[in-house]
Amino acid sequence: MMKRVKTEIIRVNARKPSYAIIRKAANLIRKGEVIAFPTETVYGLGGNALDPSSVSKIYKIKGRPSDNPLIVHIADIKTFSTLVSEIPPDASRIISKFWPGPITLVLKKSRILPEITTGGLNTVAVRMPKNNVALELIKESRFPIAAPSANISGKPSPTNATHVKDDLNGKIKLILDGGSTEIGIESTVIDMTQRTPVILRPGGISKESIEDEIGKVHSHNSHLGLHGSTINMNKSPGMKYRHYSPNAQVILVEGTEFNAKNKIIDLTQKLKSEGKKVCIMTTSKSLKVNADKLQYMGKTLEAIARNLFDIIIVQGIQYNKAGFAIMNRLKKAAITSIRV
Ligand code: AMP
Ligand code: MG
Repeated sequence: MMKRVKTEIIRVNARKPSYAIIRKAANLIRKGEVIAFPTETVYGLGGNALDPSSVSKIYKIKGRPSDNPLIVHIADIKTFSTLVSEIPPDASRIISKFWPGPITLVLKKSRILPEITTGGLNTVAVRMPKNNVALELIKESRFPIAAPSANISGKPSPTNATHVKDDLNGKIKLILDGGSTEIGIESTVIDMTQRTPVILRPGGISKESIEDEIGKVHSHNSHLGLHGSTINMNKSPGMKYRHYSPNAQVILVEGTEFNAKNKIIDLTQKLKSEGKKVCIMTTSKSLKVNADKLQYMGKTLEAIARNLFDIIIVQGIQYNKAGFAIMNRLKKAAITSIRV
């Protein structure tokens, strides 16, 4: 059992964070603690990426399998270049275009990174977040910060400090509360060690906009995240784990507007007759259905797909640009997926 600690939540101005607060947080990191902080994608659970004992705390607190490596967050290119053994030209192009921002590059690692940070791989995943709290924290701690999302493994990623507290209260000393994250979906992870780069996880930056910069990139075939799909694990350790499993069951209904609406109406009737509380998430304004909640979808789907209902039926959206990353997360959340 882990020792319970008192979790302090400190509100911080996301644009202009107070130096005193950043210094307090950075001192904890320098002492080998792990803390939660906002980035532009989701909240991170961060510790010193160069210190095996800090990194092992991250895995332990999250309950994350130790072969699922962490993203290392940096605030300047000089530190970045100490973490990797080579920077291919296409990686430089992506960096100049999208950093700071929601894209993580997998590159060959340098020797200074301990094995535990990269889950034993000879590659490292690195990104520069576009959030002043995150950037100032990394600078002030003077270490690269290894940070997965600040949730218990298998739960949806937190997009505000309350989500973090729900999962990690009593387990970490500090949560920096910088308000809701802007993007709400994790970074795109792209493997730059291949001749043609491979997107391992769709995310905040779309495949189309990456291809505009560097030409053709491949998508990893497991993107659709269907359970039971066979996946080549070598390059994408995170993909074998079920993420985004909200406490409610999620049913995804894909198909034409007409078919999807009819299916949703039928399903709801059936589930309600079984006494279930049903929430429907839809892009359709004209859906007339007797559910406990009818939720029009914004872009932060995972934020909505939480605890409150027994069953959540979600209407699928188009697979283009951000839709691709959103559908990937929804498929991971769904217990079943229906195409009509
Ligand atoms: P998270 O920290 O939960 O946002 O997840 C980070 C994602 O990046 C996971 O899917 C990891 O498996 C993936 N990742 C991290 N490091 C590497 C690496 N060296 N090679 C391939 N994928 C990685
Ligand atoms: Mg995560």
